[in-house]
Amino acid sequence: MKIETQCLHAGYTPKNGEPRALPIYQSTTYKYDKTADIGALFDLTAEGHMYSRISNPTVDAVEKKIAAMEGGVGALCTTSGQAANLLAVLNICSAGDSLISVSTIYGGTINLFAVTLKRLGIECIFVSEEDSEEKIQAAIKPNTRLIFGETLANPAMCVFDIEKFAKIAHRNNIPLVVDNTFATPVLCRPFEFGADIVTHSTTKYMDGHALQVGGVIVDSGNFDWTNGKFPELTEPDESYHGVRYVHDFGKAAYITKARVQLMRDFGMYPGALNAFLLNVGLETLAVRMERYCRNAETVARHLLKSDMIESVSYPALEGDSYHDLAMKYLPKGCSGVMALTIKGGRDTAMKFMDSLKLASNEVHVADIRTCVLHPASETHRQLNDEQLAAAGIHPGLVRLSVGLENVDDIIEDLDQALAAARG
Ligand SMILES: *Cc1c(COP(=O)(O)O)cnc(C)c1O
Repeated sequence: MKIETQCLHAGYTPKNGEPRALPIYQSTTYKYDKTADIGALFDLTAEGHMYSRISNPTVDAVEKKIAAMEGGVGALCTTSGQAANLLAVLNICSAGDSLISVSTIYGGTINLFAVTLKRLGIECIFVSEEDSEEKIQAAIKPNTRLIFGETLANPAMCVFDIEKFAKIAHRNNIPLVVDNTFATPVLCRPFEFGADIVTHSTTKYMDGHALQVGGVIVDSGNFDWTNGKFPELTEPDESYHGVRYVHDFGKAAYITKARVQLMRDFGMYPGALNAFLLNVGLETLAVRMERYCRNAETVARHLLKSDMIESVSYPALEGDSYHDLAMKYLPKGCSGVMALTIKGGRDTAMKFMDSLKLASNEVHVADIRTCVLHPASETHRQLNDEQLAAAGIHPGLVRLSVGLENVDDIIEDLDQALAAARG
């Protein structure tokens, strides 16, 4: 199936007389006839649901849909994008290990990696995505377990050179984890370029309607965990009566371990209703992505003409420094998000934000409705100036998330707010 068809049909196929729409299985537990049936579930020798902290039929259908869309062997939904990135890392990193991340990533992920993981004994070494292969190679240590980046960085809109980082990761026998939130599998499928694990905040375009907070981890099934570096996947898991993930689950080793070990212990599994809402968003994702891209391109070209705008970071524009990478990784478009730098810095940017009438000022992005955010005074206010600069964030930077309104209405609103900010 092509992606437009997967959006509608992957993951759930009703049998004769069953509900056409994906049902909401709002139940914590599942009834079995025999103790042995439940015993087999605990032994992982039978498939089925036992408790909704670990799996649920509604969530399962959505996991299967997203795995199909990304071209992976399996997926695990989580209660947020933060939980997805946390579990993706903890599945193969323990105290004493390190990971490499590019610094142009979502601010919440920077906090998680630089502060909270550090408290757990896991060191994150940040590199610049423009660093040479030699420089990145030099940052990799014997205890480095993975490399991390975002396809389209939130909010700097840098395009991650997936092939370059996959090559470095694989040369060192470690996987590449890519947060594909802004691109979605409609615009880019990172596994096709060598990524091993993909994560998402499903809160963004996948949901699209600002209805639920969620995340997902997808396993490509391509990484060879038997290279000696990942005993947690090849040796018996004492917390799960000696299961050996690679031996017992083959290509699905990583994603099975994330579920039966980490999800069992941390319990960040979404409820059925949230998965149902996410699925409604996924059904129209392919159609919506096309329109977000088209509206955003029109808006970006218009804003470039304004003397109030210092720069527009939108990689689909020919002059953008990431344009060549965008043509390679995102030929269908670069989503609805762009980063504007307003002349006059922080104060003018805030005045612009406060003057908007149609676009809403809110802590969200990738919604059906146009919205804006000022990272320096809102989401990224915990970062110091040095971290802000490393994340590619200027004090006058406004993250504009172009929605599905008529593009003329969006432009009219932006123009009147720019005029008001001029004073
Ligand atoms: C929003 C976001 C996250 C965090 O996701 P939540 O669902 O808000 O927890 C992670 N990565 C990226 C790229 C994001 O945009």
